[in-house]
Amino acid sequence: MLGGTTGASQLAQALHQAGVPAVFSYAGVTQAPLAQPLPVRVGGFGGVPGLVQYLVDHGITHVVDATHPFAAQMSRHACEACVMAGVSLLALERAPWQSGPGDQWINVPDMAAAAAALPAEPTRVFLAVGRKQLQAFAGLGQHHYLLRLVNAPAPDGLPWPDASVDLEIGRGPFSAEHDLALLQAHRVQWLVAKNAGGEATRGKLDAARALGLPVVMVQRPALPQRARTEDVGAVMHWLRHGVLPSEDVSAGTP
Ligand code: NAP
Repeated sequence: MLGGTTGASQLAQALHQAGVPAVFSYAGVTQAPLAQPLPVRVGGFGGVPGLVQYLVDHGITHVVDATHPFAAQMSRHACEACVMAGVSLLALERAPWQSGPGDQWINVPDMAAAAAALPAEPTRVFLAVGRKQLQAFAGLGQHHYLLRLVNAPAPDGLPWPDASVDLEIGRGPFSAEHDLALLQAHRVQWLVAKNAGGEATRGKLDAARALGLPVVMVQRPALPQRARTEDVGAVMHWLRHGVLPSEDVSAGTP
């Protein structure tokens, strides 16, 4: 299992309880990844060839890609490597968030477009995009930024002076109440978010709606077509029967 998400941790629990032999793979980007009830390996595989080699060496028969929807390189590699190694692949992927009444979303295709969507005049921005994406906003030094990161950045590790940045260090889930208080305390005027989906980090969207704030919502990167589900139970079914529940004619579902 390629992990790094709440769904991956839920699946790890289900695999452990069912006694399915499995390995949980972390990229190794956070300093203290969550403990898992499965054997864990950490670090990149060395691109597609390295992943193919890993699958062969370890006799892997099934891969579940439970990475974050924005971990596109890993997901592309998984698609390619599984074809090359003749291994079945399923993505455990939560559905994207949808805007509702009261939301003021500006949907953009990528981080560069998100930076361009912010107002030119100085404003206070909750930049909830993760550490790797901050560079896209480096040229916008007129704003004040609130960042939420899993680990504290190194000194001088951010592209703006310290005075322009407030930090919240922590790992989700974050409730809507928590995020409402956070946005109010930091007098946030704009939110920039990736359309990750799921419950663990949607509190900020509910908070933005409650405060009437505009949200620049970055759409997911395109990925090759692959079998996918958002249901841990469906992954377990796929592992046992080789198909997702809705494809299983013998189960009597259409
Ligand atoms: P990425 O850009 O798609 O991947 C970069 C490289 O990191 C991959 O080519 C691979 O190296 C390695 N890698 C990524 N995920 C891995 C995994 N689960 N196990 C082993 N190697 C992995 O990924 P990313 O956006 O940096 O995300 C890294 C991890 O953080 C992922 O596991 C993801 O689920 C988690 N995460 C990402 C985000 C996000 O917004 N991107 C948010 C929350 C959590 P090789 O090519 O050497 O194999």
